Amino acid sequence: MPANILLVEDEPAIQELIAFNLTQAGHHVLRASTAEAALTLVKNALPDLVLLDWMLPGASGVDIAKKLRADERTRHVPIIMLTARSDEQDKIAGLESGADDYITKPFSPRELLARIKAVLRRRAPQMTDDAVEVKGLRLDPVTHRVSGHENTIDLGPTEFRLLHFFMTHPERVHSRSQLLDQVWGDHVFVEERTVDVHIRRLRSALEPTGHASLIQTVRGTGYRFSTQA
Ligand code: CA
Repeated sequence: MPANILLVEDEPAIQELIAFNLTQAGHHVLRASTAEAALTLVKNALPDLVLLDWMLPGASGVDIAKKLRADERTRHVPIIMLTARSDEQDKIAGLESGADDYITKPFSPRELLARIKAVLRRRAPQMTDDAVEVKGLRLDPVTHRVSGHENTIDLGPTEFRLLHFFMTHPERVHSRSQLLDQVWGDHVFVEERTVDVHIRRLRSALEPTGHASLIQTVRGTGYRFSTQA
């Protein structure tokens, strides 16, 4: 599944090469050469994954990783550090700063893409192509089909993404702004009320097969996908 990837790399030739390979693999790439530019992009829209060069002018990749991990909104964004350092101590420092993985330059495009896929699968299961099934409700990201007890359920694209997110993050309360970040990919330009509209549509689509009650309202907080009443 294509992901929105923020690439933070100050060397133009390397940035170009990585961006080319990611785009070829179907990903959408946003680029930044400095910590400041990277944080501005993150503020506008939350990426699915950040590729972070260790050595940058000004604030380092480690500083950016720490900042992202310290903020509630960006805490769960997967981060892969890119670095020329292969020292074990540096690797530990990188992972302790909050990176999910670490890749040492030079690396092959194939290795980078494999690492990206592994991190996305671990940190954001809704980004992978695995089908999910809960209580007879089945969603298949590859065929884009949803069914309830073998009956086809028609969903709009937003309801599909919303349900995919819920099914891969069950039993947790998600605030409207978290849902906007995770499902819409941007919390700035969409009103929180929009979430309620799509939740209503999703519930009515799930009603005929008896799955609407999986989408629960948590008063004053947000929504939860749960099999518990
Ligand atoms: Ca660099």
